[in-house]
Amino acid sequence: METDANVFSNNEITVTFEPCLCIHAGKCAQELSEVFRTSVIPWINLEGSETARVIQQIKRCPSGALKFHYNKKEAV
Ligand code: SF4
Repeated sequence: METDANVFSNNEITVTFEPCLCIHAGKCAQELSEVFRTSVIPWINLEGSETARVIQQIKRCPSGALKFHYNKKEAV
């Protein structure tokens, strides 16, 4: 089980951040500051934008530090 402080979920996706890979290009915080916040903890606020926009931004991360996957649907 992941208990990493760099794992963030909403009800659709889970976002992970790997600090060792981040090259601090600042692209995420500059382009989507409602979600990627540099001065607040927790620094990723998935409530700040729509999931599709968050995914779009994660794909722009030049280092691969930000990743996401879709949450598994709960079995019924
Ligand atoms: S876009 Fe990626 S490499 Fe740039 S600051 Fe954000 S996490 Fe780090």
